[in-house]
Amino acid sequence: MHRRKLLKLGSFGLGALATHKLFATGFSGHAERKPIVLSTWDAGIEANKAAWKILRENGHALDAVEQGVMVTESSQNCCVGLGANPDRDGYVTLDASIMNGNGDCGAVAFLERIKHPISVARRVMEKTPHVFLVGSGAQQFAVEEGFPLEKQVLSSDAQKTYDEWLKEHHYKPQVNIENSKGQQAFAPSKLSNNQWNHDTIGMIALDGHGNLGGSCTTSGMAFKMRGRVGDSPIIGAGLFVDNEAGAAVSTGLGEEVIRTCGTHLVVEFMRQGLSPRDACKNAVSRIIDRYKNTDKIKDIQVGFIALSPKGEYGGFCIHSGFNYAVCYADTYNQLINSEFIYK
Ligand code: ASP
Repeated sequence: MHRRKLLKLGSFGLGALATHKLFATGFSGHAERKPIVLSTWDAGIEANKAAWKILRENGHALDAVEQGVMVTESSQNCCVGLGANPDRDGYVTLDASIMNGNGDCGAVAFLERIKHPISVARRVMEKTPHVFLVGSGAQQFAVEEGFPLEKQVLSSDAQKTYDEWLKEHHYKPQVNIENSKGQQAFAPSKLSNNQWNHDTIGMIALDGHGNLGGSCTTSGMAFKMRGRVGDSPIIGAGLFVDNEAGAAVSTGLGEEVIRTCGTHLVVEFMRQGLSPRDACKNAVSRIIDRYKNTDKIKDIQVGFIALSPKGEYGGFCIHSGFNYAVCYADTYNQLINSEFIYK
């Protein structure tokens, strides 16, 4: 099972700065860059490579963000694509969304047995008068569009993790195990260090023509209640893109992102003039404010990344542990530790 590892911040040498409540500045890109692509977590490095191939040839952001996250969907990642952890009944169900800077968008949720939900989301956008298809209807549409119906089998890693989870089958939605291995939610108490209970790849890009695009794809929370859908396929929650104001994508506990229309909020903050980094920080603070005077926030992780129409970028999360990959040159594809509120 490949899981993200907390980074050593290699070339940035950040260890010394990590004692501050917030990381010192330096992780948000204030320079204007075009083209550029950003994506969540360390799987973003490989995904960015595929996206960059398109962007460097003056291709379109929408193609880049689709091709980019398809790499992750094809991998045997714990929480993206058909190799992912299943829901609590043992089925892998996938959510995805895609959007361009003109407001065109498409999404699928609770989709089973289809390898590339992101491409089905794009077909929903391009070939139907609708935005969102779910469940058996989304699957039927995918098959009609020529997507093969894959076998309903768990990957061997997912089967192992699921069997272990079944022994205790705790069901408690918390997402902050990047920060504390002691607070595991849907996961068995004895998850090894390299296993996680949630994951998503979200990608946002600005192409050489000045168009923004975004994509988001996930299996959601491991061992989730059957039928549960998170923020990732919901436009304005998991993903929002507007050529005039910017693009944002989220990861973490989807319910909190839905409650705050998280990425729409980030983009609207950018429209009001905030930098991508400050817009993400404000959206994170909005979530935290809901839990003022309680200790619930310790169990909630959410991270946002954002990109301005000029190619400035930034990210912010609630608890330390979230990272994202930024690529804007053949020689620059770098993982960056997000700034955070709580260490
Ligand atoms: N946001 C996703 C969800 O709630 C999970 C994640 O990002 O890891 O489904």
